[in-house]
Amino acid sequence: MTGVSESFDVVVIGGGPGGYSAALYGASAGLRIALVEKDVLGGTCLNRGCIPAKAFLESAAVKRHVDHSSDFGIDSGDATVNFAVTQERKHKIVDSLVGGIAAMCKGRKVDVFNGVGSLGADRTVTVNMADGSTATIRGEHVILAAGSVPRLIPNFERGGPILTSDEVLDLEHVPERVAVIGGGAIGCEFASMFADLGAKVTILEGLPKILPGLDTDVANVVVRSFKRKKIDIRTGVMVTGHTPNDAGGTAVHFRAGDDGDTESVEVDACVVSVGRRPYADELGLDGTGVQVDERGYVVIDEYCRTGEPGVYAVGDLVNTPQLAHVGYAEAILAIKHLLGENPLPVAYDRVPWAIYCHPEVAWAGPGEDAAKAAGLDVVVGKHPFKFNSRAKILGETEGMVKVVAKKQPDGTAGQVLGVHMVGPWVTEQLSGGYLAVNWEATVDEVAAFIQPHPSLSELFGETMLSLTGRDFNG
Ligand SMILES: Cc1cc2nc3c(=O)[nH]c(=O)nc-3n(C[C@H](O)[C@H](O)[C@H](O)COP(=O)(O)OP(=O)(O)OC[C@H]3O[C@@H](n4cnc5c(N)ncnc54)[C@H](O)[C@@H]3O)c2cc1C
Repeated sequence: MTGVSESFDVVVIGGGPGGYSAALYGASAGLRIALVEKDVLGGTCLNRGCIPAKAFLESAAVKRHVDHSSDFGIDSGDATVNFAVTQERKHKIVDSLVGGIAAMCKGRKVDVFNGVGSLGADRTVTVNMADGSTATIRGEHVILAAGSVPRLIPNFERGGPILTSDEVLDLEHVPERVAVIGGGAIGCEFASMFADLGAKVTILEGLPKILPGLDTDVANVVVRSFKRKKIDIRTGVMVTGHTPNDAGGTAVHFRAGDDGDTESVEVDACVVSVGRRPYADELGLDGTGVQVDERGYVVIDEYCRTGEPGVYAVGDLVNTPQLAHVGYAEAILAIKHLLGENPLPVAYDRVPWAIYCHPEVAWAGPGEDAAKAAGLDVVVGKHPFKFNSRAKILGETEGMVKVVAKKQPDGTAGQVLGVHMVGPWVTEQLSGGYLAVNWEATVDEVAAFIQPHPSLSELFGETMLSLTGRDFNG
């Protein structure tokens, strides 16, 4: 084609989890791949999301442990936070992971184009390169993986004390008083982190409860724990604006309901965490067959195909759970599909979810409320960590494992529908539950598997065992 400098099997636009996994997985299948990224490889996840946020949360966990070290017979004195070192450590982790992706791209002969990619006719992609030049490349297939950016709300422009997740992750110190607008997963991670690092935290959530969508028993554990951390949780409130002060902080104004009195909270930083919007802004989709819905998401079918022949879209750009590992799954799906391998669509109602606040939360499949709301007849088993030997050894006994199973005609528990966990290291324990849900295993089948002793994962095994009608730790 005229003007096209190079042709590839696949051109991927966006180098975050959706894009780089498509590129690397496709290359491992022998495809010739171009990966277009306007910024740094790794996308939100590595540079402004999962990894830096979890690095900070780990520093918060260390502070928590040191604060309680005397319980273990270790006298360490008062722990103080040197956040510059926390930042430096985060940078090292991020840099090494970003470098790893660049090295893997090189090793698999993925051609990385550093520039803004936009889609044209017949799967041509124009790249406005960072060095000022332009490249026009063509893919037999194109995968759009341009990701998402933080959503903003009126009267809370970024700058000064008003931060989105992007700015929080660049802080050089821990603010003394923080308001977090939005009690979703990311907001609760930040609230938990700041509280554990010594800040006075207020969560301002518009809905009647934080972490909406979580199983109620699980959410209640988080709420109780946050209250013990002295996090002030204000739900059902509407933030209206803020008044900056001379000290660099601001007073955040909010109302309880439509007709409530206006209240204010004085803070040094206000984190706006109200979700993320898909970022199709620079993809040049007008005039192509790629449809964008009213909320800005690229419209796809169950194989991640857009309306433009040969063009797929994956990750946060599409209206599926905004999780890095969902992006990975969609990338694999798209590559297998374009290879003609007849893959199974992603089962979005059974993906693993993880929230890394303290206490951690992890689940797959519906919770008790969601299962009942869907009209399912269920049997529920729950066991608290307070009776688990490893949890006692760790000194982390809050939380539970809850299993939701289909009720059989005789009233006993059958197929495992959902596994919900809250407590120590549950994000590392979910995989057994995820497998059970996605394998459509029964409680009898899962209960037959042995868990190591003493371990946190015993609680999952015991919960399954109790659902068989017998147990030894009930
Ligand atoms: C604070 C925070 C914590 C999070 N924690 C977790 C977590 O614990 N677990 C989890 O699974 N998920 C987490 N997420 C969500 C996760 O980061 C996203 O789901 C994931 O990054 C989406 O991947 P993506 O590839 O679709 O998009 P992104 O990661 O946003 O990457 C898109 C890339 O495309 C590039 N781009 C955009 N347009 C163009 C263009 N036209 N040309 C070239 N390049 C372009 C961007 O520069 C970017 O690098 C978190 C997010 C945040 C903000």
